[in-house]
Amino acid sequence: ARIIIAVDGYSSCGKSTFARALAARYGYIFIDTGAMYRALTLYVINQGIVNSPSRIVEELDKIDISFKFNSQLGRSEIYLNGANVDSRIRSLEVSSHVSTVSAIPQVRDKLVALQQFMGRDKGVVMDGRDIGTVVFPQAELKIFMTADPKVRAMRRYNELQGREPFEEIERNIIERDHLDETRETSPLRRADDAVVLDNSNMTVEEQMEWAEQLMSG
Ligand code: C5P
Repeated sequence: ARIIIAVDGYSSCGKSTFARALAARYGYIFIDTGAMYRALTLYVINQGIVNSPSRIVEELDKIDISFKFNSQLGRSEIYLNGANVDSRIRSLEVSSHVSTVSAIPQVRDKLVALQQFMGRDKGVVMDGRDIGTVVFPQAELKIFMTADPKVRAMRRYNELQGREPFEEIERNIIERDHLDETRETSPLRRADDAVVLDNSNMTVEEQMEWAEQLMSG
């Protein structure tokens, strides 16, 4: 059966790594919705309007976000108005603004609609914060990921290859989780029917074994 798998959870839990591996294992497409919020945030930073919700709302129709498969990398990359922004969206500058931009209801309406469209053919693993609660409440499988904050900050630090200080990354993760959990529109929360995966002490292989048991059971 081709199904929708929703992977939600806290920042830097390894959601994308896990979701991508799961998609590859079952031949599903993988969609990183955090990358979409990040790309939109990069656009409003570049326009100098990141602190003006009303200006952001006015610009929404000019923002085109898409994914394109890079066969050399063996994964898809994100494009903003035709430009590849896959690495630029990971900066601490984007990370420090993305939660406030993501809290704007019209921003969520736009990206949720796009995500639902991308998942229309099913056979999708989508990771984010509100996939199992808002985007696909009917998803066949919902996984809610969590991990120790120190472990998460260390993973993000390694991912950024030491370009940003550890303490700042850790502070950003805690701050974003707080903003994501307390915002008014679709806050980060575990769907009632989601299965919790705490991967603090698990390798990706162990997480995959755990998921395969879930899929077969
Ligand atoms: O997953 P990632 O850490 O890249 O997400 C960046 C930010 O985008 C989150 O902290 C959150 O504010 C926002 N986001 C969201 N809803 C999603 C995915 C991400 O609000 N489905």
